[in-house]
Amino acid sequence: MDLRQIFIDNKEERLYGRYITNNHIEPVLNELKKVFAVSVIGTSVLHEPIYSVKAGSGKIKIYMWSQMHGNESTTTKAIFDFLNFLKGDNEFAVRLKATFTFLIIPILNPDGAKLYTRENAFKVDLNRDSVNLSQPESKLLRNIFEEFKPDYCYNMHDQRTIFGVGDIPKPATVSFLAPSYNNERDINNTRLKAINVIAAMNETLQQFIPGQVGRFDDSFNINCIGDMFQSLNVPTILFEAGHFQDDYEREQTRKFIFFALLSGFNAIYENVIVVNKKEEYFNIPQNKIIFYDIMYKNVKINYENKEKITNFASQYKEVLFENSVIFRAIISEIGNLEGLHAHKEFDAFGAEFLDDELNKMPIIGNEADFSVDLNRKFVNGVEIE
Ligand SMILES: [Zn+2]
Repeated sequence: MDLRQIFIDNKEERLYGRYITNNHIEPVLNELKKVFAVSVIGTSVLHEPIYSVKAGSGKIKIYMWSQMHGNESTTTKAIFDFLNFLKGDNEFAVRLKATFTFLIIPILNPDGAKLYTRENAFKVDLNRDSVNLSQPESKLLRNIFEEFKPDYCYNMHDQRTIFGVGDIPKPATVSFLAPSYNNERDINNTRLKAINVIAAMNETLQQFIPGQVGRFDDSFNINCIGDMFQSLNVPTILFEAGHFQDDYEREQTRKFIFFALLSGFNAIYENVIVVNKKEEYFNIPQNKIIFYDIMYKNVKINYENKEKITNFASQYKEVLFENSVIFRAIISEIGNLEGLHAHKEFDAFGAEFLDDELNKMPIIGNEADFSVDLNRKFVNGVEIE
């Protein structure tokens, strides 16, 4: 299976970048209607439709949802790439449709998607609402779960650029978790099934992004939907789409999520999940918070009339502006920053810091517009010619 070629052939080009809302997916859903069952299964707080796509007629039922957090759209893009693949007549696609029934909610939180927020319109984190079920979106997710009775749940998210893996750290481009079902973090048969699928997906991803797959912390929290469904005895897998080098639009990461989906379903199809891949799973390094977006080294600052050479860092703030997401570099930390890394680094070689407000040291929370030694100018965090 040439995954790269399959991706190129099936990429949904109408979905691009970080801002993905109902408006973006509706034209795509309209076409998918011709081949799959597309339904409105409910509405959000602000009465936006929540859609589902049902595909395939096989015995194994896969329940998948994305954008439970409104601003986490990478896995949504990958889901539409996957649906494009599934609607084709590739031998593997035909086999998948005969083996599985997929029930997919591409945007569970359309209000958050529109506002580009994690939470829903009532500012509730839907991934902490699985006990209270206080929100229409959470109730819907749960009701469909009860009705559909899935064999597997895929809980799909994005993670921030701050996560890294490994000793010579690389960004955590994709992270997984088989959530715990109890405080002891025991492994029963349900959780083991999720672990085995993750091990298979990891094995494939290592060929494309060696050392860039992470494992999430498995502390038990029944308010999180994955922990809840796992404890209700349905193997549940958390996906976290993360940063790939220079890919802030997450167009590379969507591809790796697509690869993970295909290889995971293939593993379930081939029934390799009956073996015990616990060791492979726990060998996936745990995610660590170790990255900034940009770091500036050896900068001379002047603090209370004392000069000092130090480092500082910026983090991008994602801002919705005229229907797209822009990235504004905000100064987020000053200090030696030992053990921390950045996706982009600049060395000032001891040159003097001066920002646009004539501060001689970086101010946390300010935009990263400054110069060093007057002749090197930085705008929105990066050096300009
Ligand atoms: Zn999330």
